[in-house]
Amino acid sequence: MEQAGTRRTTRRIAIGALKLGGGSPVVVQSMCATRTVDIDQTVAQTHQLARAGAGIVRIALDNEKEVPALKEIRAQTRGIVLSVDLQENYRIAGKVGPHVDKIRYNPGHLHHIEKSKSIPAKVRGLVEVAREHNLAIRIGVNCGSVAPAFLEKYAGDQLSALVESAVWHCELMDELGFDRFVVSLKDSDPAKVLEANRRFAARRPDVPLHLGVTEAGLPPDGIIKTRIAFEKLLAQHVGDTIRVSLTLPNERKHEEVTVGHQIIKDVERGRFISVPDFGAGLNIISCPSCSRVENEKFVELAQQVKEITAYAARHRITIAVMGCRVNGPGETDDADLGLWCGPTTVNLKKKDHKLGNFRYDAVLTRLRAEVDKLIAERSAAADN
Ligand code: SF4
Repeated sequence: MEQAGTRRTTRRIAIGALKLGGGSPVVVQSMCATRTVDIDQTVAQTHQLARAGAGIVRIALDNEKEVPALKEIRAQTRGIVLSVDLQENYRIAGKVGPHVDKIRYNPGHLHHIEKSKSIPAKVRGLVEVAREHNLAIRIGVNCGSVAPAFLEKYAGDQLSALVESAVWHCELMDELGFDRFVVSLKDSDPAKVLEANRRFAARRPDVPLHLGVTEAGLPPDGIIKTRIAFEKLLAQHVGDTIRVSLTLPNERKHEEVTVGHQIIKDVERGRFISVPDFGAGLNIISCPSCSRVENEKFVELAQQVKEITAYAARHRITIAVMGCRVNGPGETDDADLGLWCGPTTVNLKKKDHKLGNFRYDAVLTRLRAEVDKLIAERSAAADN
């Protein structure tokens, strides 16, 4: 039987020893949530994910100081295909290149540094690193961080900005004669993931796609949101590799991989278990955490947010819970209430208005008060 999601038209590319796209089975991948400088923990989690069936394991690196740790992690995980997330710091690509099989860059982060250098010149630099070290590349666009030039050009149409940004980066790769790349177009809203990937696949049927619903959150809701997008895309043979992003403690991180395999299996058997109209009420999104997470209480906090807001299940309110101060402010922008972790406090905002920093043991009381206020405001508006 044809594998779910294997678009016969995508090109097949090599990522280390792995073949992806062009009719190869869909690859399930995942990402370490441990601190990269904690070599033992990261090696252990890399093996944990690979044992569960991850074909690719991603590790995030923020700065050059973490490169020696990555080198050691590579030495202790031979045989596992490693990808590195360059996050905001694409300049470390040359240093990490010798120790991984793939690099991921986010086109929305390229403008932050070296402002006088053009984006095509920065992409050329990344391709040179990939060629030198025999790497594949992922162009990973994300609704929460679309490049400003595209947001301006497609003002008010974030989805077009996202898709066009990805298409443009593919064209940069084409001009450079580099074809060993995949693309991902992610959002926390499965409907947007569905639409963005469908549109991109129609524009660039040759390019292998990495599917992901970012910040899907805690299971089971996070799994349901992921299925809404993945089941439809895979059934239409869109998607060559998938990552299920769930908020889970480290000892359960491999569940992202088992869930991914289960979704693929279910689609192959024609078993679709997406819940129609899911997300019409309270919607809690939370990141899967990564090496940047600022306090290990993050997963517990996300769980507590879910518990104390359960009473508002029928209200159309989005609450976003993020693990760090780097991406927290931006990734909570579309939410009604946003929380992001610092080392000792949690930041809270209502839409774009900052409500302040609260101790971990105090933030939930304030959050509950803000949810009550929101419900009262909406009910008053409905009465008028
Ligand atoms: S919000 Fe921060 S901690 Fe969470 S996955 Fe993104 S970068 Fe990592």
